[in-house]
Amino acid sequence: MGIYLDYNATTPINSDVLDEMIYVYKNVVGNADSRTHDYGDAAREVVESSRKKVADLFGVNSDEVFFTSGATESNNIAIQGLKEYANNTGKKHIITTSIEHKAVLETIKHLEKEGFEVDYINPGINGRVDYKEIFSKMREDTLLISVMHVNNETGIIQPIIEIGKEAEKRNILFHVDATQSSGKLVDELRKCKYNMLSCSAHKFYGPQGIGALILKKKDYKLPPITPIMFGGQQEHGISPGTIPVALVAGFGKACEIAMDRHEENELSYKKIHSMILGLLENSKLKYHVNGDVKYCIPCTLNICIEGVSSEALMLSSKQYCGISNGSACTSKSYAHSYVLKAMGLSEDEMDSSIRISWGADEDPEMIKENIIHMINVAKELVF
Ligand code: PMP
Repeated sequence: MGIYLDYNATTPINSDVLDEMIYVYKNVVGNADSRTHDYGDAAREVVESSRKKVADLFGVNSDEVFFTSGATESNNIAIQGLKEYANNTGKKHIITTSIEHKAVLETIKHLEKEGFEVDYINPGINGRVDYKEIFSKMREDTLLISVMHVNNETGIIQPIIEIGKEAEKRNILFHVDATQSSGKLVDELRKCKYNMLSCSAHKFYGPQGIGALILKKKDYKLPPITPIMFGGQQEHGISPGTIPVALVAGFGKACEIAMDRHEENELSYKKIHSMILGLLENSKLKYHVNGDVKYCIPCTLNICIEGVSSEALMLSSKQYCGISNGSACTSKSYAHSYVLKAMGLSEDEMDSSIRISWGADEDPEMIKENIIHMINVAKELVF
């Protein structure tokens, strides 16, 4: 199968996280919303202690953390949940980027069909949107700015600190899709002045199917979100339905581990990052990194190898490494990446681009060995 190098699609679960979940599955049988017995109390205790761990990682209060099934749901609630407020205030202008994940883009497009006006900001060839361009689009009736922290395809870090400051000054709601940076760029997320943040546990060694929407309070009040789904009163009615206690426990554990290890992890990421670049540099292949490496999270590289079809490379080097050429959410059939297209890459460049993303616990020697094999395959494929 080759070594797994597609961590931006999903990460393997950490074994301590899994142990915690198994313990909860075996020992905590109650529904966290049951009020009439000790079983409910025990489940609630697990949920609330995990909520605190999530809150600690993001530097927010527990009552600002809302569990969801993951970033897709969080993004939908954060954006669609503003509809009622928009209709009441007449603020129906949204600013976003053309490189957001589909969970943001499709949600915003849905609102556009309902009469919202949207400005989509393109990145430069460096993969980053210019915050000044975002400032220039801000209007009196701007309801929301939604910008991802780290792009899932390129790993390029977006200027959320600058955007957050300006949005606060102008009283515009700011949503950050932090799915690819959670548990990694911990300090930057703590510093950022956002109103809403989306994340998924499975992007930082937690389980799939659980995530959070963080809603920051201002003057003791939550952002003006109303439910987009109806049911019980769980999670303030924002994400109704039985809380998956074991998944929540796993998410909490993943946050606790990220809190302890994110600095150490960053060093491992960086070592692998420069090792891969060094191997490419010495390979004599003609290649370039898509986006400016200066802005790249050190666990991702999106690389264009000139004259090599990415589809052929992925298939022919499958026994060495599991890599991708785009987001897993859009990779069922091959189409050019809308992210690379927005950056201005040519069709040939897009056809020759691959994404490699790795984890902190991978053995660098194993990665090295398999990347060398992949490079040798690439050399044979050059046309
Ligand atoms: N946003 C970004 C930036 C992502 O990378 C992903 C997952 N690929 C999502 C949102 C959606 O996350 P999930 O599939 O866990 O809902």
